[in-house]
Amino acid sequence: HPELAELDASKLTITLADPAARAVPDEITANAGNETICTDHMISCTWSHTSGWATPELKPLGPISLHPTASVLHYATECFEGLKAFRGFDGKLRLFRPNLNANRMLMSTLRISLPGFNPTELEKLIAALVRIDGPKWLPASRPGSFLYLRPAIIGTQAQLGVQAPKEALLFITLSFMPRLDAAVGGMKLHTNPEDMVRAWVGGFGYAKVGANYGPSLLATAEAKERGFGQILWLYGPEGYCTEAGASNFFLVWRAKESEGGKLQIITAPLDDKLILDGVTRRSVVALAKERLAGEVEVVERKYTIDEVLEANNEGRIVEAFAAGTAYFVTPVSLIHHRGQDVVIPMANGDAGVYTNKLKGWMKDIMYGNEQHPWGVVI
Ligand code: PMP
Repeated sequence: HPELAELDASKLTITLADPAARAVPDEITANAGNETICTDHMISCTWSHTSGWATPELKPLGPISLHPTASVLHYATECFEGLKAFRGFDGKLRLFRPNLNANRMLMSTLRISLPGFNPTELEKLIAALVRIDGPKWLPASRPGSFLYLRPAIIGTQAQLGVQAPKEALLFITLSFMPRLDAAVGGMKLHTNPEDMVRAWVGGFGYAKVGANYGPSLLATAEAKERGFGQILWLYGPEGYCTEAGASNFFLVWRAKESEGGKLQIITAPLDDKLILDGVTRRSVVALAKERLAGEVEVVERKYTIDEVLEANNEGRIVEAFAAGTAYFVTPVSLIHHRGQDVVIPMANGDAGVYTNKLKGWMKDIMYGNEQHPWGVVI
């Protein structure tokens, strides 16, 4: 439909909230309650199948009104993104590789028949919200702090027919999120119950759609009751290791002597579409290839929990970590699988040498200690 309007960030209208109406809480207070604390403003933009994207608006944060028959409330026509905005040690505000989030959101939205858009325009809208709320909510007096951006698109058409929504809403909030990467003693993983999988071949596990998350909560809650942090999601009768909760999963191990005995950093591959193409995952892979070349080999391939158990029995496991926006790079200290424990050696206090190196490099880029094209100044 060439007549439909494109998403256009240059048209953004701005209605400001009264800056004196709310004070900025400190990180601890903001994360203490049951409600996510958002900044003063949000961005929203409606879409309809007859006119395309409307004028995007930056406006005071507030509730969204939906008809009870809105598509999203019944058929999970929702996708979202998650990325952080950082206040650098050089005083600058940055996003980390936001183009990857914008591109992934386009992939997700198309997977569930929500409208497409130019990802560069979404990136510009995200930046606009950070530019307006950043100075107050991520002040220069708090270098090394971050906020969390949550863009989402929902199907809003009030029609119970099961069909692609003819109306949609894009919105973006900016909020506090606790630091989750500093759990004392590392993250403890429990493999999924035998009768539950997160994703499957031909499914939509690779898309960041809300429908992937609600159904994962049951297994996670059970694991938490038993003292574990997240589920290590296995797939298929072979028990392929895929993801750790809502993070990608990495192991550092020494390959078998018969396979060369090299130190490897291994993670599940993207090609069978079982896992999310994480921005942190991509960055870990790229940095390890670039900066650990000759020392550690980067391997993206299917590998099973039995291989992990065998490596553990042979003393070949070196480190493990979860990688994602929320958990950043969190060392994994234990994997429990059907009565067996894999205890991961932890060097350097709480994280292994390579885990710490990779995390440190990314942190430096996020907070401007290293000037790098991945750290996009706002
Ligand atoms: N896997 C899943 C299922 C996730 O929800 C996330 C969080 N977006 C990740 C992995 C990590 O992706 P990213 O590094 O882009 O946050």
